[in-house]
Amino acid sequence: TITSSNQAIELEDKYGAHNYHPLPVVLARGEGVFLWDVEGKRYFDFLSAYSAVNQGHCHPRIKEAMIEQIGTLTLTSRAFYNDMLGPFEKYITEYFGFDKVLPMNTGAEGVETAIKLARKWGYERKGVVENHAKIIVAENNFHGRTTTIISFSNDSNARKNFGPYTDGFIRIPYNDISALKQALKEDGVVAFLVEPIQGEAGVYVPDNNFIRLAKEACASENVLFIADEIQTGIARTGSLLAVCGNCTCEGPCERQDTYTKPDILILGKALSGGFYPVSAVLADNHIMEVIKPGQHGSTFGGNPLGAKVAMTALEVVRDEKLALNARKLGRMFRERMQMVVDKYRVAKLVRGKGLLNAVVINDTPESSTAWEICMKLAENGLLAKPTHGNIIRFAPPLVMTEEQLHECCDIIEGVFSQF
Ligand code: PLP
Repeated sequence: TITSSNQAIELEDKYGAHNYHPLPVVLARGEGVFLWDVEGKRYFDFLSAYSAVNQGHCHPRIKEAMIEQIGTLTLTSRAFYNDMLGPFEKYITEYFGFDKVLPMNTGAEGVETAIKLARKWGYERKGVVENHAKIIVAENNFHGRTTTIISFSNDSNARKNFGPYTDGFIRIPYNDISALKQALKEDGVVAFLVEPIQGEAGVYVPDNNFIRLAKEACASENVLFIADEIQTGIARTGSLLAVCGNCTCEGPCERQDTYTKPDILILGKALSGGFYPVSAVLADNHIMEVIKPGQHGSTFGGNPLGAKVAMTALEVVRDEKLALNARKLGRMFRERMQMVVDKYRVAKLVRGKGLLNAVVINDTPESSTAWEICMKLAENGLLAKPTHGNIIRFAPPLVMTEEQLHECCDIIEGVFSQF
C-alpha cells in the first residue's frame, strides 16, 4: 500500500508509460468539490477530471446506483439484450431530444462513431462517391487520441511520428463562417465536426452567433452539423449543452431562437459523473438508421452498469439544477478573475462560459510561469492545470457553493499576487 506521495510518484515513473506530465500531487480520496492527497491534505478540485466530474466526486446517488447494479449485472455484450439499456436509451434520447442513441465508452470512441456515421450517411443518403467523403474540422481542435482523430489535429506533439494519417478532412479556422461556407462548396463534404467551445485549445468561446450560422450554412448544403460536447456538454457551460446558447431550460429545447440542434451530438465525460466510461452519439432516425447490425459496436458499449450509472448521472444534473448553478457561479468567477486581471500584471485575461473558464498568463507558452502558479495553487489547496503552456483552465465540479467559490477566488488571488 502507498503511504507517501513520493512512493506513488516513483512507481508511476518506473512502471507507467510517460504519456502524461502530472502535477506532483497524489490523490487518494474525493468527495464533492474536494480531493485529498495521500498525506491527507485537502484541495479544491478546479479541473474536475477535464469536466468528467460535473456532479462532484463520488456523488452518493450515483454511487448507490452503481453499487446496486454491480451486484446485479455488469456486462452481457450486445450479443443479447439487457434490461438496463432500453430504459437508458429512452431516457437519454428524451432528455436531449433525439430519436436514437448509439452508446460507446470513451469520448474518442464517440467521435470515431460520429465520423463513421456521417461518412456512411454521406454515401447512402447524400450520394457522395464512395471513399470521397470529406469532413470539415477546425484549427486547434481536440477530439481525442485515436489515429484517425489525430490525423486532423494540427497539434504537432499529438501527430508527429504517428502517421500515416487518415484522409478526408478539411481544416478551417475556428469561428470563421466565411471559411466554412467556402469549404462547404468542395465536392463530397458530408459533415462539419466542431467543439461549440474549444476546451483543450484553451477555452476559446466563439462569437455568439457562430454555432447558429454554422448549422444554417451546413443545412443549406445538406451537410451534417456534428457537435462534440464531450467537454462542454451536460451543464458545464451554464446550460444543458453549449449549443443551447443562453437558454436555461432543462431540455429537450424547442426554442429555435437560442438552441441550435446538432444533426449529431457527441457526449462523454460527465455522462457518467466520473464513475465509469460512458459516451454516446445521438442522432435522428434518418441518420442513425444507416448503421446496420455488424457495422459498428463495442464489447462494453451499452452495458447495463454504464447504462444505470449514466441514467443516474443525468438525473443528478437535472434534479440539482447544475446548469443554473454553473451559470451563476461562472459569472461570479469571471467577475472576480477580471479584478485579478486588472490588478496583477501576471494575469492577462479571463474568458469562458459557465464553469468552463481560463485565465491567460502574461508570459510566453514556453515559459514555466503557469506551471509555477499551478504548483503554488496546489500548495494553497487548489488544483488546476496549465494547457498550452500559458493558459490555466478553471473548471470546478458544478456542485460548488457560492461561499466555496469565493474562498477559491481568494486562494487564486493570493497566489497571483505573489507573481
Ligand atoms: N472531445 C473533446 C472535446 C474532449 O475535450 C475530449 C477529452 O478531453 C475528447 C473528445 C476525448 O475524450 P476521451 O479522452 O474520453 O477519449
